[in-house]
Amino acid sequence: MQNTYLDKQYHAFKQRYPNETEYLQAIHHVLTSIDAIMDDHPEYEAYNIIERLLEPERVIGFKVTWLDDNNQVHVNRGYRVQHSALIGPYKGGLRFHPSVTQSVLKFLALEQTFKNSLTTLPMGGGKGGSDFDPKGKSNREIMTFCQAFMRELFHHLGEDVDVPAGDIGVGQREVGYLYGYYKKLTNQVTSSMTGKDTAIGGSLVRQEATGYGLAYFVDTALRKMKNTSLKGKKVLISGSGNVAIYAAEKVIELGGNVIAMSDSSGYIHCEECVDLDAIKTIKEEKRERIKTYPDYDDKGKYHDDPAKLWEIDADIALPCATQNELDATAVKHLVDNSIMMVAEGANMPTTEDGIALLRQHEILFAPGKAANAGGVLVSGLEIAQQAQFSTWSFDTINQRLKEGMKGIFEAIHQTAKEFNKADDLQFGVNVYSFRKLANAMLQQGVV
Ligand code: NDP
Repeated sequence: MQNTYLDKQYHAFKQRYPNETEYLQAIHHVLTSIDAIMDDHPEYEAYNIIERLLEPERVIGFKVTWLDDNNQVHVNRGYRVQHSALIGPYKGGLRFHPSVTQSVLKFLALEQTFKNSLTTLPMGGGKGGSDFDPKGKSNREIMTFCQAFMRELFHHLGEDVDVPAGDIGVGQREVGYLYGYYKKLTNQVTSSMTGKDTAIGGSLVRQEATGYGLAYFVDTALRKMKNTSLKGKKVLISGSGNVAIYAAEKVIELGGNVIAMSDSSGYIHCEECVDLDAIKTIKEEKRERIKTYPDYDDKGKYHDDPAKLWEIDADIALPCATQNELDATAVKHLVDNSIMMVAEGANMPTTEDGIALLRQHEILFAPGKAANAGGVLVSGLEIAQQAQFSTWSFDTINQRLKEGMKGIFEAIHQTAKEFNKADDLQFGVNVYSFRKLANAMLQQGVV
């Protein structure tokens, strides 16, 4: 970093949180982008905007004690990181996965604040979750855990305060249990959680929103920056959860061919296109492993080691599983196979050296902060519908999602162009969001 204030701040964060590698990585992404604008904005240093914006407003930690089906008592750690309420209530998902730590949630909450500022809706940023592992748990155990988790978290939520949604390990089933118990504890029916099933006040298109939004973003970027589209493209998608499945659905609808998908144990490869109904049956209905795919479609081959998915020759790569899954080794394979574009459905799935390699080879890179913003955008529309006491049609919401993703692309592309970096969408997103948040901070005084 050229700017001494930024450099000093980065080193101070490193000293303060030496073990929070994911959080530091997310901070580094932001600082390296905004380095270029610091000299024109002395007020950012004068009002210490960097430290104030990157440090979360509040980190809540609690113990979650629950009983399994055999009456064994378990203890997990629960957290909510309320990162920023500068432009609206804290908003962001809950993640249940053994890899959850304070560092992971702090990076996710920071990215969420930047992402939410792109949506044009009044939402701040937050993230939460637990190191609870939902894999292999009975339905009853999942419900018991969700209730124990909410018994602690509900004190900190509310439609005007903090509105969680789902993330890894938290889908509609878990949101239902969490929301049901929240209502029981508060005796209030409000939009204090999103990602609900439509039967209990959720919005149409919310389940599909992140994946659909990603495909809309990719198609728009290809048209505007590469003079082509998703039509006929061979696409690799990691993961087979919520984001991956609905990204695949929209990619196929827009004429692309999804030739590989994965879970954390392995991946499937189909020469032509995956059978998405089979994937949905395996993952959504039966909650099985992707290994069983060849039982449904004998044209698909299963292989262990999900990282090898990136070795397949394709046009577009959509990492939709988890952070740092796409490292420099994987990117090297993509580069060797002349990949045209990498777009992040997951949050921070590409490592820093992976991104550097993509840039070095001038491969179009769409950062998750922008490319996966469709989920929270429709969460915002879910809040709006519940507050209005009305429901909107699938087509209306889908159209708003499509226009919203196009709007996000235009905003960050325009910002990148302003600095003669038209092909650098990561620069565009960080500078666009930072300027908006810094302005909101300056207007509200030192609080
Ligand atoms: P899900 O829990 O629905 O799915 C996660 C998927 O990723 C599962 O298939 C999981 O497999 C797989 N996975 C995890 N680790 C690996 C790995 N190392 N290699 C291959 N596959 C792996 O989560 P979501 O789809 O909701 O979230 C995925 C990503 O998208 C996360 O980064 C999340 O933060 C981000 N995101 C989600 C949004 C949403 O609306 N849900 C919104 C914006 C971003 P397995 O079952 O084996 O663990």
